[in-house]
Amino acid sequence: MSRIDEHFHLYFAALDRAGQHDRCFLCRRTPADVKHFFGFDENGIALDAARYGLEDVVLMATDIMSYRGERPICAVCQINVDAIGILDEEAIVRRIYEQMATRREELWPEHPGPSIEG
Ligand SMILES: [Zn+2]
Repeated sequence: MSRIDEHFHLYFAALDRAGQHDRCFLCRRTPADVKHFFGFDENGIALDAARYGLEDVVLMATDIMSYRGERPICAVCQINVDAIGILDEEAIVRRIYEQMATRREELWPEHPGPSIEG
């Protein structure tokens, strides 16, 4: 199987597992959202290519979303997980997840303080 064939096989198999949702399982970003986050348009061309001398840099679809796991995962979330690991903060993530899942009222009280919208 060629690399392109393998990529499409992984892609369509992942979409099947994810109910045809081509979004990051964790943050719900689409591939276009991820490209934009890193400063690229939907075609993978740097938005400010001339300004930063990036005319020859093209972001590949395979660089922004992984379809190899149980659900699609974006490069932003992978970088965040890498950073949490480097900072040795996995236990904090588990505690926050537990709080979000079982004690959300501690994070999001029913009657929050003054509006920040002014
Ligand atoms: Zn993500």
